[in-house]
Amino acid sequence: MSETPLLPVLRRLIAEQGPISVAAYMALALGHPRHGYYMTRDPFGLRGDFTTAPEISQLFGECLAVWCALSWDAMKRPLPINLVELGPGRGTLMADLVRTLDRIAPDLARGAAIHLIETSPVLRAKQEAALEGRRVAWHEALARVPAGPLLLIANEFFDALPIRQFLRAGEGWRERLVDWDEAEQRLVFRAGLELPGTVPPALAAAPDGSVYETSAVATALADEIGMRLAAAPGAAIIIDYGRRAPAAGDTLAAIRDRQKDADPLAAPGEADLTAHVDFAALVETLTRARARGWGPITQGGLLRALGIEARLAALAARANPAQAERLKLGARRLIAPEGMGTLFLALAATSPHLPAPPGFESQTPR
Ligand code: SAH
Repeated sequence: MSETPLLPVLRRLIAEQGPISVAAYMALALGHPRHGYYMTRDPFGLRGDFTTAPEISQLFGECLAVWCALSWDAMKRPLPINLVELGPGRGTLMADLVRTLDRIAPDLARGAAIHLIETSPVLRAKQEAALEGRRVAWHEALARVPAGPLLLIANEFFDALPIRQFLRAGEGWRERLVDWDEAEQRLVFRAGLELPGTVPPALAAAPDGSVYETSAVATALADEIGMRLAAAPGAAIIIDYGRRAPAAGDTLAAIRDRQKDADPLAAPGEADLTAHVDFAALVETLTRARARGWGPITQGGLLRALGIEARLAALAARANPAQAERLKLGARRLIAPEGMGTLFLALAATSPHLPAPPGFESQTPR
């Protein structure tokens, strides 16, 4: 257990209010205004704690530009349109995306109002630098973006949203809580009171000790995206790692220096915390809000459908041998099954009258 600056804050909170939910722990560890992981640092890049698809290769943002341009065509090219990204990190994805739109869909590039949803001041500054010269607005929440036609992207955003965890204990389920252990002088997990009816029927037979996860924040966001797509033409794409169907499993993980911490409570505020995204729950919420949900499909499948291989060949033909090799390795990491190709999934949502978005043609809408 490290004595991080956030630890005394958590101890005081627990002393005053009793054990806190995993969701409250996660929200504070990532988003505490002074000591939260994302609020104090830039975790990306080669020396950072982790790296993401847009940081690996420009091809990722270029492919998503193709996705946006084709989705915009399918909506009959409404202008102006809000181009929204949730949790843009260093701004690399949006920079690659709009640079590509300049070339393949200049009307969209000119008529799109870029809205970035970001809580971290450190990362906002990075995004500002990456998008210098563009018209960009920043918001703390999607609710602040004006109504109207919408293109929305979110890469590795939903996995950072707080989850609650429930533990199977005998016949019932108890919420898993975070408590301070005075004897051991460290944060520990503890089971709370028994809860009735919080778990889907599919998990009725889960064995003792099983963990079930939910995210109220993710659900609320999916609901908001769905309502916007139902009210005006639009398309959204969410890419992340997670599960396709409801399943038991403790997926809360802490990542520090590119390594998984054995204990997610060991270094609050100094390790990234993530959990698998529940794609089935997102689809259900989107469709309940009257949008159409598509997929999820694999990231590899999506990028191939968007022409990553042809684009790689075109770029490699113009590059020197070392650059060409780097481009090929990057593309491989994005699409190969032993890389991110099948581990990462892409879920799309559209307005109800729209056809399958690019890459999702083989999917039945929900
Ligand atoms: N999409 C980027 C970064 C993913 S990391 C990429 O692919 O590289 C998660 C991002 O979401 C960071 O920018 C983080 O600061 C932001 N973030 C995390 N929780 C957030 C919240 N509740 N509201 C807004 N932004 C959040």
